[in-house]
Amino acid sequence: RFIVFEGGDGAGKGSVLAAAAEALRADGFDILTTREPGGTPEGMALRALLLSEAGEVWDQGSELLLMTAARVQHMTRVIRPAVAQGQIVLCDRYVGSTLAYQGGGRGIAPALIRQLHADFVGDYWPDLTVLLDIPPAEGLRRSQRRLADTATDEGRFEGLALDFHERVRASFLAQAKDMPDRFLVADAAPPLASVQAHVLAGLRAWLQT
Ligand code: C5P
Repeated sequence: RFIVFEGGDGAGKGSVLAAAAEALRADGFDILTTREPGGTPEGMALRALLLSEAGEVWDQGSELLLMTAARVQHMTRVIRPAVAQGQIVLCDRYVGSTLAYQGGGRGIAPALIRQLHADFVGDYWPDLTVLLDIPPAEGLRRSQRRLADTATDEGRFEGLALDFHERVRASFLAQAKDMPDRFLVADAAPPLASVQAHVLAGLRAWLQT
């Protein structure tokens, strides 16, 4: 099965995903964790190009195509083979992020993003998406703190205006509303431990169905 974690910057996806993976492994599930953009060596190279300050040079169409290119590699080489072997894949971001950032944020038509996905990734959608929802002002505060702590070069998107991040959030929430059976929406504003516990309980219940 294929489970994706989505959410705005600073929502805590990475930590919640890692905690869920550890707990589910202890339950006996065979879990593979991965991320986008990234997930393959080619995808990591694209991630570095897209997310660093140097990423400012990309036209929004190029950004969409590079995100999609990373996803095609990731899907064919990592996700699909793992799911076929019976692993449960926990993936940090997927096409929902492209709909939210390149679609909602940048204004590229969602129909085009879905068409690219259908043609090149193969119309492969998550069985479940865990959406960590946070008001952008709070998410960006957390995110800036982490950027300062880790001295990473990946802060390009955090620098975008608040209304960009509001559109990203609205897109994620609209996606969840369109497919309520395939989304677990969690309020990511409470302390991390309680978000982790809430998500883990939801995942355990879903995995039993
Ligand atoms: O969640 P993660 O730290 O991996 O996200 C990296 C950055 O890439 C974030 O700032 C996110 O906003 C951005 N991103 C994007 N479009 C995507 C995926 C990620 O703008 N499709």
